[in-house]
Amino acid sequence: MDTIGKLGLLTEQMDLEPAEEHTTSRPSCYTPSNPFGAPSMTPKPLTREKDVYVHSAQLPNGKQIKLLKTLLTSACERDCFYCPFRAGRDFRRATFKPDEFARVFMDLNHRNIAEGTFLSSGIAGGGVFTQDKLIDTAEIMRNKYGFRGYIHLKIMPGAQKEQVFRAMQLADRVSINLEAPNTERLAMLAPHKVFIEELFRPLKWVEEIRQSQPAYKGWNGRWPSTVTQFVAGGADESDLELLTTTSWLMKNVRLKRAYFSAFNPIPDTPLENKPAVDPLREHRLYQASFLLRDYGFDLEEMPFANDGNLPLPTDPKLAWAQLNLSEHPVEINRAEKRELLRIPGIGPKGAEAILQARRTNQLRDLSSLRKLGVIAERAAPYVLLNGKRASLQLSMF
Ligand code: SF4
Repeated sequence: MDTIGKLGLLTEQMDLEPAEEHTTSRPSCYTPSNPFGAPSMTPKPLTREKDVYVHSAQLPNGKQIKLLKTLLTSACERDCFYCPFRAGRDFRRATFKPDEFARVFMDLNHRNIAEGTFLSSGIAGGGVFTQDKLIDTAEIMRNKYGFRGYIHLKIMPGAQKEQVFRAMQLADRVSINLEAPNTERLAMLAPHKVFIEELFRPLKWVEEIRQSQPAYKGWNGRWPSTVTQFVAGGADESDLELLTTTSWLMKNVRLKRAYFSAFNPIPDTPLENKPAVDPLREHRLYQASFLLRDYGFDLEEMPFANDGNLPLPTDPKLAWAQLNLSEHPVEINRAEKRELLRIPGIGPKGAEAILQARRTNQLRDLSSLRKLGVIAERAAPYVLLNGKRASLQLSMF
């Protein structure tokens, strides 16, 4: 197989999997999917250019780039139960040498086909050896070819602390996928991965390094952000378990974002007969994680049912408001930012816009809220405007 053929195969396997492997759950050593929009990196539909699949992705700074998401190798010696790349599964695999990948990427970069890369790998020769290959690749791109664009590097299970540090000196973002929220659940998904030592500890190392080393040692004078991913529903875990771990990581190791991929069975894997998880669950988990990260909600405030799961029919912010604000609407002209953020239809930008507008004018009707970017119909049942129920204005619109 020639180089571009390999890249075409690997980029396709990374995200446009062959029909028999079609899934929304992503193996740990490759990319998180994000089908419901996100503030950090939002993969968009792929385009195929010169036989290579390229994403249009939004970076954490808001910039839109052409992102090449690929594996260094789709060979893997591990046997995670949910993964299409697990050892022994029969499909066509491909492998790049570090210099080979760096060269083909730079060629695509010079031709404006790819502006950045998200580089992961199956595990071949152990986590440490595979991590070295990923680091070698990024070093060649940065040092030999002078590439200064976006690199997202995956940290392999079992990587050493020095390798995590080196990856952080080369990448704009690093990710370590936990897959499951705790040791017991991971054993049901990936019996040869060790939750604490191989996955959780490297996530803590990233934050330790950010805290203890000056930022100028990081790539481009700053340390990369960190993300993780869970296979939602793959181990019969509850949303409460997933969000407990997510919340801890956000508070304690400044996790930028958790990705949730609803489990989908893959033929010829031990979980092939397990029913797929409703993708709506994935959406609710994203919404809840954003409430924890950006809206000042605590885990205890999430509207979990008795089984520890979020209700599927209602978004968690709306469910909270129905319970807490229906009888106690918030006065838009006096509320603090943290109160505004709890109102359905008002996000961080809308809350800021309201605070700004209030400095000069009282907000008297829903149309003035709408002009500030608020979804007025959603907010109306839970707010007062100058002491009057805004919901009464809905009939006027
Ligand atoms: S380590 Fe597990 S999840 Fe990662 S590629 Fe190998 S089998 Fe798949």
